[in-house]
Amino acid sequence: MYTLPDLPYDFGALEPAMSGQILELHHDKHHAAYVKGANDTLEQLAEARAAGALGGLVGLEKTLAFNLSGHVLHSIFWTNLSPDGGDKPAGDLADLIDRDFGSFDAFKAQLTTATQSVQGSGWGVLAWEPLGERLVVTQVYDHHGNVGIGSTPVLVFDAWEHAYYLQYKNVRPDYVTRLWDLVNWDDVTARLAAARA
Ligand code: MN
Repeated sequence: MYTLPDLPYDFGALEPAMSGQILELHHDKHHAAYVKGANDTLEQLAEARAAGALGGLVGLEKTLAFNLSGHVLHSIFWTNLSPDGGDKPAGDLADLIDRDFGSFDAFKAQLTTATQSVQGSGWGVLAWEPLGERLVVTQVYDHHGNVGIGSTPVLVFDAWEHAYYLQYKNVRPDYVTRLWDLVNWDDVTARLAAARA
């Protein structure tokens, strides 16, 4: 069974960049729904296996991928953010960003554009790609489309309307600009180290 993780800060801790009302709804309602969806789907798969009735398998697998990926991405998103975040990374992460994107500013422009320009619902993602041993920026659709398989997300920006609409209305670029002020680079660095290990 998957469980909804607690936020590592209070609902109001990311204000003014992210309102407490948005954060409470986003965590307690939206993220919680993905956790429930993943658990419910696993249960339905177990029942289907037990009954030898796998006729609905295709739909169940799609539903599992959607909900489980939503749970994974939101779990990463909360720890990627911090009231004390912002600025730039240092050390290995900074060196790899320079190597794989040319400069921090060039990387920032790519991840910003990837997040701002998602058509419909999705995410901008910085991921470690193990086969090429390099960082890549990915534009994820819904929670699981357009994903480079095997890549590990280390920094994720939620571009779903539920992440910003109550506060930023239709101006997604302003929300994305403010997200950079919340990035917890220590968490991104730790995720990258784990992905490379
Ligand atoms: Mn979300």
